[in-house]
Amino acid sequence: MWAPAEDVAKLTYFGLYALQHRGQESAGIAVSDGHRIVVHKEMGLVAQAFDEPALTALRGHIAVGHCRYSTTGASVWANAQPTFRSTPAASLALGHNGNLINTRELAKLLDGQPGVAGIAATSDTDVLTALFVSQLPGVAEGVENTAAAVLPRARGAYSLVFMDEHALYAARDPHGFRPLVLGRLERGWVVASETAALDIVGAAFVREIAPGELVRIDENGVSSRTIASAPVTGCLFEHVYLARPDTTLSGRGVHATRVEVGRRLAKEHPVEADLVIPVPESGTPAAIGFAEASGIPFGQGLVKNSYVGRTFIQPSQTIRQRGIKLKLNPLREAIAGRRIVAVDDSIVRGNTQRALVAMLREAGAVEVHVRVASPPVMSPCFYGIDFASRDELIAGSLDTEEIRASIGADSLGYVSLDGLIEATTLPADRLCRACFDGHYPVPVAAGDRGKFVLEVS
Ligand code: SF4
Repeated sequence: MWAPAEDVAKLTYFGLYALQHRGQESAGIAVSDGHRIVVHKEMGLVAQAFDEPALTALRGHIAVGHCRYSTTGASVWANAQPTFRSTPAASLALGHNGNLINTRELAKLLDGQPGVAGIAATSDTDVLTALFVSQLPGVAEGVENTAAAVLPRARGAYSLVFMDEHALYAARDPHGFRPLVLGRLERGWVVASETAALDIVGAAFVREIAPGELVRIDENGVSSRTIASAPVTGCLFEHVYLARPDTTLSGRGVHATRVEVGRRLAKEHPVEADLVIPVPESGTPAAIGFAEASGIPFGQGLVKNSYVGRTFIQPSQTIRQRGIKLKLNPLREAIAGRRIVAVDDSIVRGNTQRALVAMLREAGAVEVHVRVASPPVMSPCFYGIDFASRDELIAGSLDTEEIRASIGADSLGYVSLDGLIEATTLPADRLCRACFDGHYPVPVAAGDRGKFVLEVS
């Protein structure tokens, strides 16, 4: 955020609240007053990482905020973001959404660089930040030119916001895997992962940061240049699960896409039943669409505890054994004696759906039909979603009938890949769907797969 007349720390904090679903392991904000950058970051949710004194201490007119979901590097404080690096030439704070697939190669470029060796962090983001500052020539335009030189060496997914003492920058990888949008405040500018965050801070949507674009924002306004180009392959899974339903991706409302997926699911996998229930929250729009297209009444059958997140406090063994009940509880009066269609956004390992089907049967459902608003997840993601290895993905080794038997449902139906893509209204060749069909737009070497490439090398 660049906004001279605003309390940028507080506005960024509210923006992070809006983006909490994208990362729940750690949170941080860096602020510059034009002379120096101050960073505050902690493990945990946004509300756990900040209190009033911490926010009040962050004074200035430029801010970068981040909430982390770890994909490269352990979930530890040293890997929390914004990352921060300082040299006599300049200081840099950076937040990264996505995942690089050549982190080891980039780390090797740092060998022998003064002032950056012996770093505690093990994330792709910290390597990128260290590479930046190691190349800074020490002039005001240095960060922009350095970014234009360094970023084309990074491969994989990166939507970045970063700042030196004087300006805010944003950049997006040429494939545009992860979203990044520009918004306008009355007196200032905001860059965020999702349009929903612009809404929450009172910024008007201006446009998406284009794939391969580098943007600089300062007192002269917004300037832009293209630093790399490649076929655009935005993440299809953002439309299914990751993005908020009140966000707009490539001009299409996510909620509308998910409702349409539900309609297609009803046509592709019809069933006779008494009630359509969503697996809250992300299954809700597709369940609405399924009910609408099938004529089966929609109702709530599961109550979600919204306060259960992926925090650093792990549930005890006893609680873990109760599994899904920590998050979901059935409404017995809605379920008992009925044939239920349960609509979920995706099946990854299958453990949640197995527990869910058992829970609905315990609550008195006479039949449980599971419908899934995405195709089977068969391959891991290397571009910013830490699904699981192929061995852990239930669709990596079982077909649909075997999965149905494994989760104990009376029937199981996934929306087709074509149906999902059509629901987004985007051209198929502009979407990554590697986790569904195994065709990776950017190939990943075997040694670069896995979350702990720097811990083990
Ligand atoms: S592999 Fe799947 S989750 Fe990863 S970027 Fe591609 S579509 Fe998205």
